[in-house]
Amino acid sequence: MLHEKLSPVYDNVLRRNPGETEFHQAVREVLESIGPALGKHPEYAESKIIERICEPERQVIFRVPWEDDRGEVHINRGFRVEFNSALGPYKGGLRFHPSVYLGIVKFLGFEQIFKNSLTGLPIGGGKGGSDFDPKGRSQREIMRFCQSFMTELYRHIGEHTDVPAGDIGVGGREVGYLFGQYKRITNRYESGVITGKGLSFGGAQVRTEATGYGCAFFVDEMLKARGTSFDGKRVVVSGSGNVAIYTIEKIQQLGGTVVACSDSSGYVVDDQGIDLALLKQVKEVERLRVDVYAKRRGGAASFVPGRSVWEVPCEVAMPSATQNEITGRDAELLVRGGCIAVGEGANMPTMPEGVRIFQEAGVAFGPGKAANAGGVATSALEMQQNASRDSWTFEFSERRLAEIMRDIHGRCLATADEYGMPGNYVAGANIDGFKRVADAMLALGLI
Ligand code: NDP
Repeated sequence: MLHEKLSPVYDNVLRRNPGETEFHQAVREVLESIGPALGKHPEYAESKIIERICEPERQVIFRVPWEDDRGEVHINRGFRVEFNSALGPYKGGLRFHPSVYLGIVKFLGFEQIFKNSLTGLPIGGGKGGSDFDPKGRSQREIMRFCQSFMTELYRHIGEHTDVPAGDIGVGGREVGYLFGQYKRITNRYESGVITGKGLSFGGAQVRTEATGYGCAFFVDEMLKARGTSFDGKRVVVSGSGNVAIYTIEKIQQLGGTVVACSDSSGYVVDDQGIDLALLKQVKEVERLRVDVYAKRRGGAASFVPGRSVWEVPCEVAMPSATQNEITGRDAELLVRGGCIAVGEGANMPTMPEGVRIFQEAGVAFGPGKAANAGGVATSALEMQQNASRDSWTFEFSERRLAEIMRDIHGRCLATADEYGMPGNYVAGANIDGFKRVADAMLALGLI
């Protein structure tokens, strides 16, 4: 239910952004949570803070022409949505996936505002990407695409303006090509212009691992708050990309057993626990599909094509692939199968009906904004190291990440308590993230 002051705001968002269903969903989820904050702080409504937050500060859409290995020309569309800079330079990743359109980039950019605010670090919210499909493309094609993408993007970004990073389809390799082109065009070694860089050219320790590790730390805190831990728990992780792999790694270190993971072709079940070295070899090194993992693992694992990984019973579910991957039916299955905690490594992976089912069943539910904030937090630490021309050790960086995740967890719980919704991490994350941005916007005047 929406607060009476928020219904017209939401209607206006629907009217002004037709067809952008993921963006509508992300806005609605935040507006449903922040009603109580408006009651306590009438100044937010008086200054039209919510209306302002729902409208990006700037949206850039551009043509990305590139040539494949056979000499054929392709045209893709590039996006950068600079959503909110009240707390710092716009910060958020780039996604390369054929499903990308303005509505996806805006949903991700909107979520990013509150996530970045929750980290307590000086970063605003933005997001970008392209409908380019990297699957099946050669290394040189990927390089040419990244160079063409940056040839337009460079004029909109900068270490004090807008700092992109990776997301789906954009990992260390792509960030390298993007940074290389930025450096070439501008003639500046501006390390802080993009994060997720390789360690040899300004990257930070633990950035590769940060989103997955951070999500495992967050769920560990949720479990501790309920008097339990990962030790001996059966866990399912969806996806097998950057976030999934490092979620699995940290859960294994914390004593959990990850029995299944997936990609868009299907899922693998491995009851003895995923063999992480083999998974990394198949997905990170050879860039193959998960069925290859099952084949190489012999009889220990099986591949189930074209089905949802959420049919595998588990005590902890870590959706780490993409948006809207857990339906209401999946949530029911998970609850029936004994699931007690969900940590969203992906952005908005649980559909609203699923969130309701988890919360009504008393499942500890950690929304992406809070649970996967470790990635962007470590990106902000990368910017900090770039600015001071310093580099921290792996151990120190991981300790900082763990502290940040503990702090976010604590603030979500404390805010949920303060507003009379104990244990509701969705409300806690939305209200806490919103308030910091709203207060900065009030203080900055009509921006
Ligand atoms: P990757 O590209 O490394 O991996 C994505 C994984 O999800 C792959 O296994 C991919 O399978 C699967 N996947 C993607 N789209 C779909 C789809 N439509 N249906 C089924 N499976 C799909 O991306 P990341 O690991 O970086 O990102 C995963 C999620 O985490 C995203 O929601 C992203 O926004 C979020 N996130 C990422 C952060 C980061 O630091 N990278 C930070 C915070 C959130 P396939 O290869 O078959 O497509």
